[in-house]
Order: sequence, then C-alpha cells, then structure tokens
Amino acid sequence: MARWTMGLLVLTLVGCSAAEVHAGRGASSGASSNSTGTTGSSTGSGSSSGTGSSASSSSSGSSSSSSSGGSGGFAPGVHPPWPRVPAGAAASLDATELVVITFDSDAAGTDGGYPYQDTVEAFGAWMLEDGWLTSVAGEYGVGAGAARTPVRLAEAAPAAISDAEVQQFLEAKLNSGELPLPDANLIYMVFYPQGTVVTLENGAVGCTDFAGYHFDAQVTVGGQGYLIGYAVVPDCDAPGAGLTELQQIEIAASHELVEEATDPEPDLEPSYILPDGDPWSATGGELADLCQSNYQRASGTPYLFQRSWSNTLALGDGSPCAPAPATPSKPFLGVAPADPEEVHGNAGETVHVPLVGWSTAPHAPWPILARTIVGNFDPQPSASPATIGNGGTATLNLHLPANATSGESAVVWVFTQQGLGNDSQWWPLVVRVN
Ligand SMILES: [Zn+2]
Repeated sequence: MARWTMGLLVLTLVGCSAAEVHAGRGASSGASSNSTGTTGSSTGSGSSSGTGSSASSSSSGSSSSSSSGGSGGFAPGVHPPWPRVPAGAAASLDATELVVITFDSDAAGTDGGYPYQDTVEAFGAWMLEDGWLTSVAGEYGVGAGAARTPVRLAEAAPAAISDAEVQQFLEAKLNSGELPLPDANLIYMVFYPQGTVVTLENGAVGCTDFAGYHFDAQVTVGGQGYLIGYAVVPDCDAPGAGLTELQQIEIAASHELVEEATDPEPDLEPSYILPDGDPWSATGGELADLCQSNYQRASGTPYLFQRSWSNTLALGDGSPCAPAPATPSKPFLGVAPADPEEVHGNAGETVHVPLVGWSTAPHAPWPILARTIVGNFDPQPSASPATIGNGGTATLNLHLPANATSGESAVVWVFTQQGLGNDSQWWPLVVRVN
C-alpha cells in the first residue's frame, strides 16, 4: 500500500485562496478537502474514549511550564505540552546528498522552459552545505553531505506524469547514465515546470492537493536492485498567501528534503511520523507537516524555507518549529485547548471548549484565530472573547450542524498569528458528533 507523504500548498491562514487545499497523507481517495470540509476520512479518530459530554474539560490539562523568559517573576501560563514525534525503524540519512533534476524546456514550450534552474540548484546546495539542513534536522541524526552536480535534461518535461511514471523515469535515467547511481544517502529531487501535472495513485493532483511529495521506490539499474528516495516539486502558478511561484517551490523543496532525510522509507519503514488518526496528522504527520504554514526567510540570502518540528524545542514553552525565529526578542504567543482530548456533542448543538493562553515574555492580549482544516462539516469555529493573554482563558465555540450524523468529525486549528515574520503554531482539535 503506497503511502505518500505530501507537502501541502502553504495554508494561507489569511482570507481565501484557491490554493488553500489540504490533504491527508495517504488519504484514500481524492485527498483534497478544503476548509469548508468535505472528505476528511482519515482525520481525527482520536485515541481518547471521549467523555461523551460536551467538552467541559476543566480537568487535568497536563501542563508544562518551565519558566523561561528572563524577566523576573514572569512565568508562561499553564498549557498542554507539545507532542513529540516518534522515531521508526529506518535511520535518518547521516550524510544527506541531493541531486537537483530540472528540464530545459516545458511541455508546452511556452514558458521559456523552467525559469528557476539556477535558483533551485543553488538553493539545494545551500540547504546542505550552509548548515541549514543540520540546523533543522540534526537532532534526528541527519547529517549533510555535499550537493551532487545538478542534472539538466534537454528533453521537454511531460505534460502529465503519475508517480508510477516518475519512478519509471528515474529508473530509465539511472540506466541511461544521466542520473548518478543510487547511494543510501542520495535523494533525487525532480522539479517540474508549469505545464506538467503530477498525480498520485490516490488521485491527489499537484498544485491542487499538494505542493510536493517524497517517497521511496525499488528500481533496477544494470541488473541490480536498489531502494531510492526521491521527491517531486511542481511549479504552482499563483500559490497564494502572497507567495511567489519560486517561494512556494523553495518551501516545498525544503519541506520534502527534511522529511525524506528523516523518513527515508515512508512506504516500507515509516519514521518520524505521527500515526494516522492523531489530530496533529490531519495535514500529514511528518516533521515539516507539523509546522505547515510556518515559513521563514533565511537571513543574508534570498531564500524562503519551511520550518520543521523539533522534539527538542517541543520540550519548552516557545515555538516547536526549527530553526528558531529570526527575531528571538519577540515572545512566542500561544493558544491551545485546556484539554487536548477530542470533544463530542450532539448534532445541532454548539460545543464550548476551554482554551488557555501563554506567552514566553510579558505581552498584551493577542487575537485568537481558529479555522476548520478538514472534516465532514464545518463547525464554524469562533472564540469568545476574541483575545487571550498569558495565563488567560477563553472559549472556542464549535457548531455541530443539525444534519450531521453520528461519528462525523472535523479538525479545527487554533492559532494566534499569521503571515511571514510571525511565529505561530496551530493546535489541532477534533470535534465529533455523538
Ligand atoms: Zn510533508
């Protein structure tokens, strides 16, 4: 059973955009569902036995607060701890290498080929050789080797290609000698130009349902079998969130590089991934997925990259996404359910979920933002009051439609900031109909 791990298009978290699409890793069919909630089959089964009553969870709300933030006497408000992502059987790549593969001309021949060849080649080398990859994934045993010589193919890129055909393409190029021979540490990253539509076996479509993916494949080269790791990054027109095509490509490439380096055999031996059904996995449970929509400029470079989950940072009160923000002087502003368990209610009912707020330094109250990510229905989340402060509380209101049926669910994210330069981390909450 193929299990792709897809990097989604950036979740804008601002207004609406055609590019706001979410897909669960390995979701069975048509992995897309937009924020109005459609499929969401794989989301939020939740391990909890659920209280059955509507979410009055004044209860335990496991806390973590080590007082950080040096101003005397200040302590972050009590909040549930960040999750930690478990290792699997496959070891991380300890000397990661990357070969960037591009095409000189696009399928239609109208876009002047692929205008980002120079940039993605330089970006690939930068991620490995300037310490970026190890700064993000070193704690998982990832090491960085050198970037391999990029490969530019003279042939036109295909107008459409399936993942199975990507694997055949890689195998053919390995046998023709156009690609370097496999190595346990080597990732093949194919950048397709506009005009190439990439599809996965589960029906997911590039630039509609995902902005990139990584996977592993068995290939035969010169009569010998190899397991190779690869990633695919399409060129998405108008990616949304105020991003350029190139920025979206950089976000997707950095996302997939980290995930392939920490989960090099997603099909055979998944590693550093939260299980299906975990509410944090609603948009994929790998390290970069958990920091989805959290991207950052690399200072001193033109690059934008995706941040990734850090189990080490997750022990603290601040952002769990690495690397640390460029402006550490800015406090982290958090909001989370007081009790992160799945909540339940009857159809037609509005469920009230207690929220807690915390910050890593004194700060005026900040807005609570909430959004439906995936599900059978849209519970139209709203917070009252609309702001929260350190140690403060608020209520998240979730409406279960009268026509919802028993067992149906939705995943809502609560978060506090949006846009480039802000340092927010969403917290997922599953609401289910009794
Ligand atoms: Zn991912």
